[in-house]
Formats: sequence, structure tokens, C-alpha cells
Amino acid sequence: MARIKMVAGNWKMNKTLQEGVALATELKNDVKNPNCAVVIGTPFIHLATVAELLKDSAIKVAAENCADKEKGAYTGEVSAAMVASTGAEYCILGHSERRAYYHEDYAVLAEKVKLALANNLKVIFCIGEVKEEREAGKQNEVVKAQLEGSVFNLTAEEWKNITLAYEPVWAIGTGLTATPEQAQEIHAYIRSLVAEKYDAQVADDTTILYGGSCNEKNAAELFSCPDIDGGLIGGAALVAEKFEAIIAAR
Ligand code: PEP
Repeated sequence: MARIKMVAGNWKMNKTLQEGVALATELKNDVKNPNCAVVIGTPFIHLATVAELLKDSAIKVAAENCADKEKGAYTGEVSAAMVASTGAEYCILGHSERRAYYHEDYAVLAEKVKLALANNLKVIFCIGEVKEEREAGKQNEVVKAQLEGSVFNLTAEEWKNITLAYEPVWAIGTGLTATPEQAQEIHAYIRSLVAEKYDAQVADDTTILYGGSCNEKNAAELFSCPDIDGGLIGGAALVAEKFEAIIAAR
């Protein structure tokens, strides 16, 4: 089985509901037969409307987060079951902004992953080092610890619903992109960790996306690397034309 190629967008905290519907409508009209899986991650409040709008299209919908608790007295939180009930099929977890600004640690993320999978959501799990860690040559140990801390407890069966996204934090929203060589090197390393933990076949079937200032200009070169299966796109996913050009590059 050839692994799935994917371009996923992460809208973050951008777009009102009306703006989000307008962007999703444009994408629906333009993206008919993509060469890869296409996913858009939207704010919670958009999910039900956007999932309904895209239900017969080539585009799947993701939440950008879910709660680490099943249900109950957690004011303001949104559970994995609630996300699934909107028609969203994916959940982005472990994004560096959630780790940095909302203090999501390995244990919290492990709970979120468990609950997302238990509610039949597929998980796009983000890992990646900060600038100081890259400068100190510690990127490999950082991504290894992130995997061991939150997702390497999963069974091989559960792992089938995991997509990894390597996102060097120093490249997110900064305009700095990892070179294709830097990205390929660590993607291959991540795949080797999956092979060590599960087996070579599981590793070969695992989709690993690159994220961090990936845009319509650099996507083709990044995607030509053997271990880069697509992209997780922030800023460029907010403009239909740019996001569509990245999909076309995959
Ligand atoms: C992201 O936040 O997942 C991301 C990759 O952002 P950007 O493309 O804007 O760097």
C-alpha cells in the first residue's frame, strides 16, 4: 500500500464564519480531483457549517484541537466527541502554538490523541524543535521525545489513523523554511523511529507532512523529497489561490 500524500491547511484563529464559508466554497469549487488528500483545519465554531458544505467534495475537515477530557464541567472546552459530531474527520494535535501558549505537555497530548482516536477522528500530530534546539543540534532527540511522550503508546492498529507533521518551530510563520535537505534528513529519521517502534511496513505507510512557511513557491521542491509526503500549511492556506497551488504541487 502506497502511503497517502496530503496537503492540510491550518487556519488557526483566522476567518470569521462568513469568511471561512467563502474560502471553503472557493476551495470546493476549484479542488475537484486533487492528486492527494486535502484537509482544512478550521476553528471549532466553523466546523459544522464547513463540514456540511464540503460533505460531497474532495476536501476533508479537521479541528485544530480537542479537549483532554471526555466530557463534563470543563467550561469552554470542546470534546473529541463534539468535534466528530460536526462531521469533521480529522483533529490536529500537538501544534507548537498549543504546546507553547497553552502549555500542552506530553501527557495532556497523549490524552487528547487517545480521545480523538476513540471518537473515530484521524489525528494530524505535530512535532518539531525550537530554534535553540536546532542550533544545539538537538532536533532528533526533541522529536523522539515528543513521539515517545504522546503517541508511541498507540497500537499499530491505532497508528493507522495517525499522520505526523514535522514542523520546525523556527520556520512557522517566520518566512524561514527548512531546506529540503534539512527537512528530508529529519523526516527520514522520524520514519526510522516509527520503524523501530512498530515495523518497516508501518513506517513505510506513515504519512509525514512538512510544515513551516511552506508556500506555493517552495512546495514542489520540498514535496520532491522521498520522505516528505505533503504539507501542513498555515498562512498560505488562508488564500485559496495559494493553497490550491500547493495542492497542485503535491
Ligand atoms: C502551521 O502553523 O502549522 C504552519 C505551518 O504555519 P505557516 O505555514 O504559516 O508557517
